[in-house]
Formats: sequence, structure tokens, C-alpha cells
Amino acid sequence: MLPPLDLHVHSQFSPCAEDVTILDDAKMAIEKGLQLVAITDHGTVKCPSWLNKYLRELERVKGVFGDRLTILSGMEVDILEGGRLAVSREIVKSLEVIVASLHAVPANVDAVEYWRRSLLNVIKGGYVNILGHPTDLGWRKIDPPVGYVFEVLDEARDAGVAVEINFHHKDPNLSFLKLAVERGVKLVPNSDAHNLSEIGERGWHLERIRAVSPQFDSVNWLRAEDIL
Ligand SMILES: [Zn+2]
Ligand SMILES: [Zn+2]
Repeated sequence: MLPPLDLHVHSQFSPCAEDVTILDDAKMAIEKGLQLVAITDHGTVKCPSWLNKYLRELERVKGVFGDRLTILSGMEVDILEGGRLAVSREIVKSLEVIVASLHAVPANVDAVEYWRRSLLNVIKGGYVNILGHPTDLGWRKIDPPVGYVFEVLDEARDAGVAVEINFHHKDPNLSFLKLAVERGVKLVPNSDAHNLSEIGERGWHLERIRAVSPQFDSVNWLRAEDIL
């Protein structure tokens, strides 16, 4: 069984969102049997202009559903050069779930080296709960050498940072996922939903995890109590 949570869901506060809204995300999560969701819109600048409106709407929707669903505040924050987070430390600290994602690599740099340095630094910097679509740099897939993957996974495990299995990007690939299971990194089955139909779609996650750990027994899932 997958843990009944989804800690990477977008809403009307992401420009790339389709029909997702905080209210409808919550409705869909309940319908699909989830118990815990985090609404994580894109944080691409120091002080995102939508943040206060988002927090007000989040509180309103929490009031609508009460204890039928736990809804956490969060953000998917861009990882910038050197592994810095795009959003200010004060804002990041004030939110409950931080997904850190690489969405772009500067021109003329070695993407694999950039990936390694950025992820190691962002983990060491603290404040991050989850590495978003870990081998997808904004729809550009990379397949780093095993040695680099070990370094990143071990750093994440030791820092208590989880790695997501991301439905929207269909990421990471199976060899990375297998290594993540073997290294004992916490995994989280996220949707990264930009469309309501992506919330609670667990079939793909199950298929991926069965492909690398048929009995599920060696998977170290991120649990609600790790976050709450
Ligand atoms: Zn992303
Ligand atoms: Zn996302």
C-alpha cells in the first residue's frame, strides 16, 4: 500500500496550472482516499506576489473540509545556480512542505555536473523536505553516473530529505528509483498535479515501485508523521 498522501499538488496560483484549484484539489483528494495533501505552487522569485492570497484561500479551504483532509501549506521552489533556493529563507521557513526542483540548466554547462552540485548544495542548505522530479530538469531528462546518484541519495537520506516519484513528469527513471530504494532514502508518491485528473492516480506509482521492489518491503516511505 502506498501512504495516502500527495505532497506536490498545484493550484490556481501556478501560471501553468490547468483546472486545479485549492478547493477542487481537496475535493478530489478526499474522493481518491488521500488523507494528507500539500499545495505547492511555483516559487520562482524571492517574494512570490501570490503568496498572501494563496495563504488566505488555503485557510478558507481547510475550514470547508475540517478533519476530513489535512491540507498543508507548501511551495515548489526553484533551485538556482549553486543550489540556492529562489525564494527567501523567511518564506521557506514559514511553509510546511518545501519541494525543491531544478527547472533549468544554464547554457554551456555540463548538465550532470550542475545537477550533482545543485542537489548536494540544496540538501546541505536545509529547509527542503522533498527533491522534486529528481532526474528531470524541466522536461529534460538526465541519467547521471551511479557514483553521483549515490552521493545525492546518501546526502538526502542522511539529511532526512525525501525523493519523490513524480506522476506528471514520469520521473525518476527505474535505475535511479532502484538505487533510491537500496540506499534507504525516503520516497513519496506525488502527483505534481497540474490537472485534477492527476490527483490520486496511484497506478503508475505502484507499477514503478513494483518494478524495483516487487514485495514493497524494502521501500522507506515518507509518512505523515515525518512531516506533521
Ligand atoms: Zn517542477
Ligand atoms: Zn510541480
